[in-house]
Amino acid sequence: MHKIQDRITQVNIRIKNAASNAGRNPQAITLLAVSKRQPNPLIQAAYDAGLRDFGENYLQEAVEKIAVLAMPEARWHFIGPIQSNKTRAIAEHFQWVHSVDRLKIAQRLSEQRSPALPPLQICLQVNIDNEDTKSGVKVTELETLALAVAELPHLQLRGLMTIPATQYTAHNSPFVRLQTLFERLKKHPQLANMDTLSMGMSGDMEDAIAAGSTQVRIGTALFGERTH
Ligand SMILES: *Cc1c(COP(=O)(O)O)cnc(C)c1O
Repeated sequence: MHKIQDRITQVNIRIKNAASNAGRNPQAITLLAVSKRQPNPLIQAAYDAGLRDFGENYLQEAVEKIAVLAMPEARWHFIGPIQSNKTRAIAEHFQWVHSVDRLKIAQRLSEQRSPALPPLQICLQVNIDNEDTKSGVKVTELETLALAVAELPHLQLRGLMTIPATQYTAHNSPFVRLQTLFERLKKHPQLANMDTLSMGMSGDMEDAIAAGSTQVRIGTALFGERTH
């Protein structure tokens, strides 16, 4: 229990320092706890210590956790790759999806989201370094996708997400490139309300915050190495 509290404190200090170095308000940055492959008692302890936003990559594992953990005020964020046969359960169990990268998936999520629930909060995952092996919409196809997703009734397009290539240089920061794309998209009146840049993980949150991140997705730095 103490240990997780200490780790939360340390991560919050990193966020605060990075925000302060960038002249930003740390309150504008949400700590999203990536709880994939972590033991339930540890996730519960993080919730009991005050965290509310949790990120999961694997649907089945996540649905089980959501059912058994006593976390009534948690907001669950789906951050993993999405196959079409998973959209119904994602639309039912999650509040946010960060990994939408094609229109078909967005259409299914919108159709399958109950109108009785608030709209599903969506980020488009961008393949910022154009890597063959990585999910995410291509930079050249982002604008078309964003404009189409913004039209879907049961979704609310909040912004962009990325997982950059592991090696990058400061003068070519993938986070700065994502922020530039984000600002450009926001010139469309239909996209002007976007407010979320989901970027930064345990190893690179400072760079992401310097470039305007509003949600850092932190696993290892909070929970330690994943169990399997
Ligand atoms: C696992 C994962 C993270 C967390 O990574 P850490 O390096 O453990 O902080 C963040 N985002 C996504 C999409 C992930 O899959």
